Amino acid sequence: MIYNAPIKDMLFLVNEWIGLDKVIALPGYEEVDAELFEAILEEADRFSGTELLSINRDGDEHGAKFENGTVTTPPGFKEAYTQFIENGWAGIDADPEHGGQGLPKVLQNLIDEMVGAVNVSFKLYTELSRGAYHLMNHAASDEIREKYLPKMVEGVWSGTMCLTEAHCGTDLGLLNTKAVPAGDGTYKLSGTKIFITSGDHDLTENILHLVIARIEGAPAGTRGISLFLVPKILVNEDGSLGERNAVNTASIEHKMGIRASATCTLNFDDATGYLIGEENRGLAAMFKMMNIERMTVGLQGLGLSEIAYQNARDYAQERTQSKAPAPRPDDSKPADPIIYQPEMQRQLLTIRSQVEGARALSVFTGLHVDIMERSADEAAAADAENTVALLTPVIKAHFSDLGMSSTLSAQQIYGGHGYVREHGMEQLVRDCRIAPIYEGTNEVQAIDLVARKITGKTGEFADRFLASWQEFLREHEDDEKVAAIVGPAAVALECLIDTTRWLREKVQSDDATARGAASQYLRLFALTIIACMWSQIIVSIRDKEGSFYDIKRKLARFYMQQVLPETSALAATIIQGADALADFEVSDLVGQ
Ligand SMILES: Cc1cc2nc3c(=O)[nH]c(=O)nc-3n(C[C@H](O)[C@H](O)[C@H](O)COP(=O)(O)OP(=O)(O)OC[C@H]3O[C@@H](n4cnc5c(N)ncnc54)[C@H](O)[C@@H]3O)c2cc1C
Repeated sequence: MIYNAPIKDMLFLVNEWIGLDKVIALPGYEEVDAELFEAILEEADRFSGTELLSINRDGDEHGAKFENGTVTTPPGFKEAYTQFIENGWAGIDADPEHGGQGLPKVLQNLIDEMVGAVNVSFKLYTELSRGAYHLMNHAASDEIREKYLPKMVEGVWSGTMCLTEAHCGTDLGLLNTKAVPAGDGTYKLSGTKIFITSGDHDLTENILHLVIARIEGAPAGTRGISLFLVPKILVNEDGSLGERNAVNTASIEHKMGIRASATCTLNFDDATGYLIGEENRGLAAMFKMMNIERMTVGLQGLGLSEIAYQNARDYAQERTQSKAPAPRPDDSKPADPIIYQPEMQRQLLTIRSQVEGARALSVFTGLHVDIMERSADEAAAADAENTVALLTPVIKAHFSDLGMSSTLSAQQIYGGHGYVREHGMEQLVRDCRIAPIYEGTNEVQAIDLVARKITGKTGEFADRFLASWQEFLREHEDDEKVAAIVGPAAVALECLIDTTRWLREKVQSDDATARGAASQYLRLFALTIIACMWSQIIVSIRDKEGSFYDIKRKLARFYMQQVLPETSALAATIIQGADALADFEVSDLVGQ
């Protein structure tokens, strides 16, 4: 298995497309420049493509192990983690006040894509910590932040997100974990959380669990959920490690993929917890972490698509089968490399044209996270916040679905050799399969988009967002140098705007029908927005010459002609297909 981070494309997107100057202009990023940006990407590529990739296969075969109540990570993980923290990767976008590097989110997104490509299991040991850090930095008291955050940034303590219980996955309002005030400002937590990623392991000295629970007497449902910090080992006043807290690992899961990642059942038996934020406002605070994780899960899908593409492309050049259609590369040979088969080319290009468009959306969204967090211009920051809120479910769901379709296509290109273990393609498929499920299933992301993001106040923003893209496309659709790209994008956008209007009405009048169309709508939205990204890229390189830009133009055209047409079928399915779904009763499904 090989992986070379697509640094050229990444730098093109940041330097030439969005413009690094827009990032550097934000308060706090004055010390970032193109050289630093490139040097960090190159170092991330080196670390990912060598250290992390080299332990991915063994990690899958060995798996995380649970013995005598403790979890051990597979061989090589500890050494790789030591390098990870020594090189400062744990604190890339963390606050300098806690020892972090305070670098832009747009850079973090690109690093996340690389690490997700080469070793999802390893990434999971680090990414929940990052989310936990940002949540605590956002919502915890000064005392808690000072005591815990520097160790998290140093990477010697890690974090988890403890939401799920056996009977309560999507619907967190059902949770049973209880918190009882201990009388000294702390709480005693009891309950069992399942499926907790990195709930226990041997990579860090301490693990900080962020747990949602209901304080005795709190209202039922999501309005009675509070958030607590429950350290695995209690921390003394002076910051040193004290007694073991009453949190124990009951078991770890045996899984289809990400086998090196420990997915734990944790028992809390009167464990000491510290309230984060206000009582009963825990879920709102937790969303800070969940939104970071949603983005990063999407980036797993993007990374896996890229590595699947690179390996399938190389294999297709080596594997000779059948004679290719004319013109053949070498008429004297009995068979040609399968990359000369148009079917194989189509599958490779379908992956690549979507991956490069999706990467542009990742960079675009990363920039908006930076603006949201740093801009001194309040209106710009508010707009950026709305943009990020709108695009987060789209990135989570669409990129993880893209990861599935790309890894499956790449596996197909290997034929039977992709189905067997040898080349590692089946591991990519298995490792990707969790991405559409965890961090809120993709169905839940779609409902978030339909029921929250395109309706009400955020709906007004969504209209403005789509209208601004419409204006951009209209401005350029008659320019014959870019019309082949911008024209189809403009048609798809009209269709998205019409469908959005229709669906918004349905949300008010017939919620069931609207929800039945949510996943199809999210796909329509994602394919169209990626077409907008491609259009803006092509306009930005309109007069540039050279093979790099020519390939971009060809890929954009391929996307418009081979991928984007699905949007009209999706719109038709959503609008005309609504009645067919509404005709069914549950009894029709289960009755016969
Ligand atoms: C490997 C792994 C790691 C995980 N890591 C963590 C972790 O670190 N922390 C944590 O707290 N949890 C974690 N989870 C839990 C994960 O987030 C949940 O599995 C996920 O949110 C779905 O919950 P569930 O499995 O209970 O499925 P359910 O909620 O029972 O859903 C079953 C099906 O019903 C659908 N469904 C449910 N409600 C709706 C709705 N309102 N509208 C439409 N469809 C709906 C779902 O989309 C799904 O297809 C992990 C899970 C796994 C497998």
